[in-house]
Amino acid sequence: MTESASAPDSEQGVGAAVPLSPLHTNGFSLGVQAVDGNARATLLRTPRGDIATPVFMPVGTQATVKGLTPGELRSVGAQIVLCNTYHLWLRPGPDVVSQLGGLHRFMGWTGPILTDSGGFQVFSLAKLRTLDDDGVVFRSHVDGTRMTLTPEVAMEVQARLGSDIAMVLDECPPADANGAALDRAMARTTAWAKRSLAVDVNQITGDPTRAQARFGIVQGACDVKRRLAHLNEVSALDVDGVALGGLSVGEPPPEMYRVLQGVAPHMPRDRPRYLMGVGTPYDLLEAIGQGVDMFDCVLPTRNARTGQAWTWQGRVNLRQSRHRLDPLPLDEQCACPVCSTWSRGYLSHLFRVKEMLGPRLVTLHNLWFYRRLTVAAREAIVGGRFSEWSRQVVQGLRDGDEIGLAGSS
Ligand SMILES: [Zn+2]
Repeated sequence: MTESASAPDSEQGVGAAVPLSPLHTNGFSLGVQAVDGNARATLLRTPRGDIATPVFMPVGTQATVKGLTPGELRSVGAQIVLCNTYHLWLRPGPDVVSQLGGLHRFMGWTGPILTDSGGFQVFSLAKLRTLDDDGVVFRSHVDGTRMTLTPEVAMEVQARLGSDIAMVLDECPPADANGAALDRAMARTTAWAKRSLAVDVNQITGDPTRAQARFGIVQGACDVKRRLAHLNEVSALDVDGVALGGLSVGEPPPEMYRVLQGVAPHMPRDRPRYLMGVGTPYDLLEAIGQGVDMFDCVLPTRNARTGQAWTWQGRVNLRQSRHRLDPLPLDEQCACPVCSTWSRGYLSHLFRVKEMLGPRLVTLHNLWFYRRLTVAAREAIVGGRFSEWSRQVVQGLRDGDEIGLAGSS
């Protein structure tokens, strides 16, 4: 095991001498610093800070990573956060956010922010959707207001929020969609990406200097041939990064891993590679091994709020009575502020009496763990031993898991 007691930012500065290639948007560049098999360690430079990959982006759905201050996010090593355009579009709305100085000022986070397009939430949360080539008409899940999300609207809202990386609107077909439905979703996603790229962000914001990178999205469900064809289409566009969408949407983990093995190594080398909405530590290790750089998922923060902690020995469920008198920290190998101060017994007590400190502390620990997992993966890639290291970590995670479910949850 490679967990060390060093601070999460210990690898900063690695590879400073490696030349960075500019991306399509001013102020953004990418340098590949080490390659080990298909896995890679890169440095993504943005106007608001550098991101060493592999990187996990904590999810700040409503312009807050639930329960944590930006300072606490920094303290667990967060380099970039993700915010959800759908939620912020509905409440408080891009007008409010931009009048209050933009998303960074609004939430007090000075580092890079990635926003999604809003499409995924429209498909999963909104009511009464109608979808055509123009976009999606839906009713807000908050108050029933009728709204229209088009590629242009998605870019406009993200421009006014002021994120650093914007995602183009895509159509995410269900995991069990048939071939014709997949083809239609892929064709629509490509057409929507072109329309998104045609939007002039600086005209919307009235600020000619503001730079916002734009990532394209590859669909195709679990059909590797279709995924590769769509990857070619999307990579040919002037996108700054390429994302895999529509995975971890209900398909079994081995199916997702098969797709990753078939597709991820073929993603463009000169641009960031992002796997959207994934996942467990197992999923991250598999995807990193296939060359993915960026991840986001609600899992570590959502798990934390129900008393589930991720450790190098798998998951700990603080609601189990066995932890009542447990004097040990969540993870003896963890150097996070939570593990160096409090016992499982105390944390377990907080959950039993429903004190808000419980979810906060486990959120801090889980994000620290995800950060350490990606930092250690980066070190293993740089050291040319990723595959063996990853095998050992997976073994440790499976052996000690209290919940008994290995793989995606
Ligand atoms: Zn910890």
